[in-house]
Amino acid sequence: MAKKQFKSESKRLLDLMINSIYTHKEIFLRELISNASDAIDKLCFIALTDDKLGMTRSDFKIELHADKDSRILTIEDNGIGMDRDDLENNLGTIASSGSYKFKQEMEEKPDDIDIIGQFGVGFYSAFMVAKKITVITKKYGCDTAYCWESSGADGYTITETEKDGLGTKIILEIKDNTDEENYDEFLEQYRLQGLVKRYSDYIRYPIVMDMTKSRVKEETKDSEHPEYEDYTERETLNSMVPIWQRPKKDVTQDEYDKFYQEKFFAMEKPLRTIVTSVEGVVTYKALLYIPTSTPYDYYTKEYKKGLQLYSSGVLITDNCEELVPEHFRFVKGIVDTADLSLNISREMLQHDRHLLTIAKNLEKKVKNELTSMLKNKREDYETFFKAFGRQLKYGCVADYGMHKDELVDLLMFYSSTEKKPVTLAEYVDRMKEEQKFIYFATGENAAAIDALPQTELLRSKGYEILYCTEDVDEFTIQTLMSYKEKNFCSAMNDDLGIDSDEAPADEKESTALLTFVKETLGDKVAEVTASKKLVSHPVCLTAKGGISFEMEKYFNAVQPDSGMKAQRVLELNMNHSAVKTMESLVQTDIDKAKKYAEVLYCQALLIAGLPLENPSEYTDLVCSLM
Ligand code: ADP
Repeated sequence: MAKKQFKSESKRLLDLMINSIYTHKEIFLRELISNASDAIDKLCFIALTDDKLGMTRSDFKIELHADKDSRILTIEDNGIGMDRDDLENNLGTIASSGSYKFKQEMEEKPDDIDIIGQFGVGFYSAFMVAKKITVITKKYGCDTAYCWESSGADGYTITETEKDGLGTKIILEIKDNTDEENYDEFLEQYRLQGLVKRYSDYIRYPIVMDMTKSRVKEETKDSEHPEYEDYTERETLNSMVPIWQRPKKDVTQDEYDKFYQEKFFAMEKPLRTIVTSVEGVVTYKALLYIPTSTPYDYYTKEYKKGLQLYSSGVLITDNCEELVPEHFRFVKGIVDTADLSLNISREMLQHDRHLLTIAKNLEKKVKNELTSMLKNKREDYETFFKAFGRQLKYGCVADYGMHKDELVDLLMFYSSTEKKPVTLAEYVDRMKEEQKFIYFATGENAAAIDALPQTELLRSKGYEILYCTEDVDEFTIQTLMSYKEKNFCSAMNDDLGIDSDEAPADEKESTALLTFVKETLGDKVAEVTASKKLVSHPVCLTAKGGISFEMEKYFNAVQPDSGMKAQRVLELNMNHSAVKTMESLVQTDIDKAKKYAEVLYCQALLIAGLPLENPSEYTDLVCSLM
């Protein structure tokens, strides 16, 4: 049988494993046991509907066997098994992106205990301790059994073989000891027992091993010199009670954290753990986590929302989407309920009444947790909001604003006066007595908004401004419309609802100037007004009607021919020297006055972050005035 070569990425990974200086070689056992448990999950699920299989939940187990003389350690399961294609695809290849990233991480932090599990390269970790691996396996629905064999980097073979029963047996030929490394320990029963307890205690199927023990020989029991004899006894090494089934008081936060990191391949500890146990109309236990930071694929299609769903300890699905609302899609966790019929199909799951009730309850739980974090642990909440605030804002906008009332009090916006994120409740509490609106301003970042002339008057009045720096911010505010009966008002609006303290310029003269500028600019602007909000800047642009500049920019970016255009109002600061000069030029040099009007308009566009129609014309214009 010709040897097949590993795909090149897999080969590199293998080299890494074989020559590994990884300090926690022992985790190979956890990885193989967890694969075995996954394989049993799959067959156990099939057993629910396939009577011919003749197996029930209690028949499933994982067996360990260690033989010091032959240096063989086996891990055997009676799970789903693999056929030739599975062996080829699962054990001959690894996702190349995964392996590359893994390699980098491993080189950076060789002591990190969880790297291996995180990259789905578990099986290969066995090469850290084994010089040869044999896999004998028979798949559900398949008559032939197969044998996969490899001694590492030089490739693998797959041959047909005989095997009783379904499942997979992994046979490891443990490496010989070296000066630096002791591999014998992986053949010691007590060491193996300890490793199972430590890493795989919550595996829901029994992990059994024949333990050799010693006892006094019956016939020498009463003698002065009792003799001892060895005997073997089969022991279940794990307690099997899943962590979410254990009473909360018996589990440490550290255990919850570890479980989270292993189960959900997370690098960090969770920000919050929510444990709940409900008995009543529906009975269930749930263990939920709020992550500390945004998963790298969170805003991509790859990210799957949902909770793992178990029914009486049997895994029904890895991602039950119905259990979490879209706006809390960052929540990870597990729900275990006895109230589901076990052979429920995916389609039925979606309409299951119990499931919907559980989902509603869990949503409330998550909301309460967030609300209490906001109230009592502001720093943590800010961490949370940094990671998932955008999600909450999307949640407000989604479904025509259906969820906005539920989410509005969890939102935060950056404040011009506090220089940090604040809630709308805090804003409204601090509003000045005469202040009519909740003001907000939109821009690339806080520094850019700080510099906007449109905000000058608001600042001079001491009004707080909320900064919208993300796409979704302005849509959120548009959806909310008001908060505690206070309407929102954009700093870019033509009417800010404020009377200026400035003495109005002579009305007649200013009307003439405004008409002159409007005629000069023509259709470029909808209106030219004497500004009430400018203090030190000569001009600014504001938007009239329903479309704001940010919406114009957004829609033109996603759909360039959308034709979406905000109505531009050019506001002039009638007290500014540049405007005054233009006014006197109207009498003495009308052409120059027109150039002034054009330049001021272009400046207003630039400040609003809108593109100039013709940049080179603008620079020529400026030069002609210099
Ligand atoms: P991961 O488990 O993260 O996918 P592994 O390298 O550990 O990565 O395993 C690769 C794949 O091989 C698994 O996803 C599974 O499909 C298959 N596999 C491994 N061990 C077993 C087993 N004991 N029984 C059935 N399939 C297995």
